Amino acid sequence: MNKLYGLIGHPVGHSMSPLMHNDAFRQLGINGHYHAFDVREEKLSEAVNAMRVLNVTGFNVTIPHKVAIMNYLDEIDEEAKMIGAVNTVVNIEGHLIGYNTDGRGYLTSLLRLLKKPLKDSNILVIGAGGAARAVVIAMATHGVAELTITNRTREKAVMIQNHCKKIRQDINVIPLDNAKKIADKYDIIINTTSIGMSPNIDAIPFPIENIKQKAILSDLIYNPLKTKWLELGEKKGLTIHNGVGMFVEQGVLAFQKWTNQKPNSERMTEVVIEKLGGSTC
Ligand code: NAP
Repeated sequence: MNKLYGLIGHPVGHSMSPLMHNDAFRQLGINGHYHAFDVREEKLSEAVNAMRVLNVTGFNVTIPHKVAIMNYLDEIDEEAKMIGAVNTVVNIEGHLIGYNTDGRGYLTSLLRLLKKPLKDSNILVIGAGGAARAVVIAMATHGVAELTITNRTREKAVMIQNHCKKIRQDINVIPLDNAKKIADKYDIIINTTSIGMSPNIDAIPFPIENIKQKAILSDLIYNPLKTKWLELGEKKGLTIHNGVGMFVEQGVLAFQKWTNQKPNSERMTEVVIEKLGGSTC
């Protein structure tokens, strides 16, 4: 029987998940179909129930439902609870279990690029929204030398700092101006804000000047594939890392939870990059 998978969010028209997962189903000979469902906030409860009743085997959750969906699930994995958001749901005979694969997906894509162990690296995270939370928790859980958050709204960064105390007590929160002055101490600088995302492609989240030559610039944004920030970093000779890896790897982890099979992440990356009309970095 053809199994149904999907995505709920609003809007979902530009999502690359259907293309990526349907291609993986074909590649693995799985009789499955992934569909993007456009669900408005006030319809979330009904939509989740529909997923249950229609026996949708698994689904992703995106903006604006990642937090609110937690109210409608039967079980939530510890990591998703810690992150405070769900991006993947598995339906076992009407019992809905929520997971969050964003942080681990990010970590998997970053680890591939590293020349120096993450455990010996000083990390600066710019931003303190939902994506930052997943990234900070993944970093704190994995273990890094120093972990610092900087954000326009300091209170939000402090919230993440406090929330993570169970995993790590010494996460720093510093103002953006301070971070700019001491930028050369960081081995990896991660932009988790939406600054530089299409259509505002000329904006950059953090100046490049003081960043050291051996640093990695990592941007969660994948549209455009190479943000202005990454472009400037590349010109300076820094290693750059865009958000495609995170997007693909969170999808790989979701796919595995639904099917117990591992899709080809290189193939998924090609599919996504082709759709975005470019080459990866
Ligand atoms: P979010 O919860 O809305 O958080 C947005 C963050 O950006 C906040 O820290 C916010 O600062 C900051 N920000 C936004 N505009 C700003 C500005 N003009 N100046 C200074 N700071 C600004 O969003 P999110 O869900 O975390 O997503 C953030 C980015 O990550 C988006 O670009 C998204 O596409 C990307 N993302 C990528 C993946 C992937 O798979 N690659 C997955 C998830 C998210 P304040 O706290 O001060 O408002």
